[in-house]
Amino acid sequence: MKHRIVVLGAGYAGAFSAGYLARQLHPDDFEISVVNAEPDFVERLRLHQLAAGQDLRHRPLAEIFAGTGIRLRVARVTDVDAEHRTVTVADGAGTDRLGYDTLLYALGSTGAVHGVPGVDEHAFHVAARPAALRLRARLDELGENGKVLVVGGNLTAIEAVTEIAESRPGLRVSLATSGELGGWLGPKARRHLLRAFDRFGITVHEHTTIERVEATAAVAADGTTFASDATVWAAGFAVHPIAAASGLAVERNGQITVDRQMRSVSHPDVYVAGDSAFVIGDNGLPLPMSCASAGFTGMQAVAAIIGDRTGRKISTKALSYVGNHISLGRKDGLFQVVDGDARSKSWALRGRSAARFKSAILGTAAWTLSRPTFGQLNHRYRSATGREHSADVVAA
Ligand SMILES: Cc1cc2nc3c(=O)[nH]c(=O)nc-3n(C[C@H](O)[C@H](O)[C@H](O)COP(=O)(O)OP(=O)(O)OC[C@H]3O[C@@H](n4cnc5c(N)ncnc54)[C@H](O)[C@@H]3O)c2cc1C
Repeated sequence: MKHRIVVLGAGYAGAFSAGYLARQLHPDDFEISVVNAEPDFVERLRLHQLAAGQDLRHRPLAEIFAGTGIRLRVARVTDVDAEHRTVTVADGAGTDRLGYDTLLYALGSTGAVHGVPGVDEHAFHVAARPAALRLRARLDELGENGKVLVVGGNLTAIEAVTEIAESRPGLRVSLATSGELGGWLGPKARRHLLRAFDRFGITVHEHTTIERVEATAAVAADGTTFASDATVWAAGFAVHPIAAASGLAVERNGQITVDRQMRSVSHPDVYVAGDSAFVIGDNGLPLPMSCASAGFTGMQAVAAIIGDRTGRKISTKALSYVGNHISLGRKDGLFQVVDGDARSKSWALRGRSAARFKSAILGTAAWTLSRPTFGQLNHRYRSATGREHSADVVAA
């Protein structure tokens, strides 16, 4: 019997991890399957661009994984039973149950609703491709005439509102945030951000908590009503409820609690990478949900899976948080560097060079993910059946 590794999710963490495992593990001993809801690798970091009206390159997973030996299943995961090691999936043909010996959970996250009434029914978001396309269709309907309110004051809200304002200059675009816009940025970056909002003509409502969303308005805690033809909810990310329902130990926010090797603390045959994982980074703080964290946690998870399943020493990968790239439309941006306590440093890359830097990073990430095995299938690691988790950990 081959050892069955099932990877849930083929986003930044899952696609990379599946490719790396296929490259290193011997196919006589291991069978690697990937389940993903979308047939394509979706560049989630560009979904605000898709929503604003730009077209993204299609990257079919069937082509990406061709020749790797990975079995791709395009289906929606509806349930994980960690006790019985099964995953329930659904597609157009019905539902199916997959068994696994090792699970890599990398289903990412979705928009956090925070229990605010009306968000599910009336608001739009950009956390997944279908949602971004719905928003795009609504913006097309509005044409050059309408009001768009983006709710949120963090990275995704900033990227979404500036992208929409730049791509759709006829719309009246505003942003409501419960805090201060970009209050966490260093002073130079914040000044740059506020100038960009001025240039785009975006109205900012700070210290404004939206408590209800209606079909054509959003209502703040103090009763102020903001007329809006499209309310875009961008108030943070939350982990899919599948994780909490699976029997795995999760944090209060639904993220799966893992050890330093990315193993679930309750079910060590389940590894977690990307937004779904709650892990303490090298700075002693929880790693933020980000593309960089997906890369670091994916690398650590595959090192642990290979170590645990083949008896090799597990190398310790960096779990770092260095800063944030923020796009401000297509020609402007920020790269805010943070210190060891995750506080913004006073220096930040700004303007066109920051936009170019971000574009280069996104391009490199997509290029790398499109070549999961780099054309090499080393297949050098055989199974060490019967061995338990590696006791040895060695720094890379
Ligand atoms: C608009 C936007 C802009 C962003 N910009 C940045 C940025 O500039 N920098 C940065 O670091 N981060 C950014 N992020 C966050 C970043 O996208 C995530 O942190 C990153 O994608 C996490 O990687 P992941 O592999 O955990 O999840 P994802 O990349 O989301 O991958 C999850 C995969 O699982 C699949 N999936 C989900 N649910 C199911 C299911 N039930 N069944 C089957 N498949 C499923 C999805 O289709 C997807 O392929 C941005 C996010 C958004 C939405």
